[in-house]
Amino acid sequence: MAKTIEKIRVDMNEARLQEDLEKYRQQALELGATQAAIVTTGEIPVDERVTLKCQIPRCFGYGAGAQCPPNTLKPEELRELLKKYRFAILFIKEVPPEVIVRDKATIKERVAAYQEVYKIVNDLESLAFHDGHYLAFGFGAGSCRHTFCGQMESCQAMEGKKCRFSLRSRPSMEAVGIDVYKMVARAGWDIYPIGSGDKPEDIPKGTLAGLIIVQ
Ligand code: SF4
Repeated sequence: MAKTIEKIRVDMNEARLQEDLEKYRQQALELGATQAAIVTTGEIPVDERVTLKCQIPRCFGYGAGAQCPPNTLKPEELRELLKKYRFAILFIKEVPPEVIVRDKATIKERVAAYQEVYKIVNDLESLAFHDGHYLAFGFGAGSCRHTFCGQMESCQAMEGKKCRFSLRSRPSMEAVGIDVYKMVARAGWDIYPIGSGDKPEDIPKGTLAGLIIVQ
């Protein structure tokens, strides 16, 4: 099917915004999200303590990639930016417990699951952009250092070169300080705290999340 590219309007198609938001919500489900919802940007909880958790205890991605703390957008910067936007699409993708735990045996499945989240974010962001909501942007889950460049020695963007996956990689929601647990729980969906040593048999389900800020 041919892509629809709309002429830019100074009001960013304001009259059609709600219809478009519902279209993106449906599209997220069609692309494999388990749940999707339209949210206001006032409902996005941004908290410095979230990125503190990237540092203490130190995550493998901390400082190792251009889209992870402390190299990416700071919570304070995001809070300011969100004041200029009103609506977003939040979605989750449920994954089996054995896929979400850090186990070498399921690394392929885990990387694929995270890549699927980025694909939904990328596709919705692109759809919104071409619909005239041209300032749309999105956040994925986890770290692009693991999801896209796990087999590489380093993050190329950190070396002053082009990101290997510039159109696909994004900061994760948590990397910019969004309290994903709170936001998903508030939406009425299931999410569980999963730590490094947790066993699949103890985890009811795995949940990954993504967010597209539309307008
Ligand atoms: S080069 Fe790889 S690790 Fe670095 S920002 Fe791009 S996708 Fe992420």
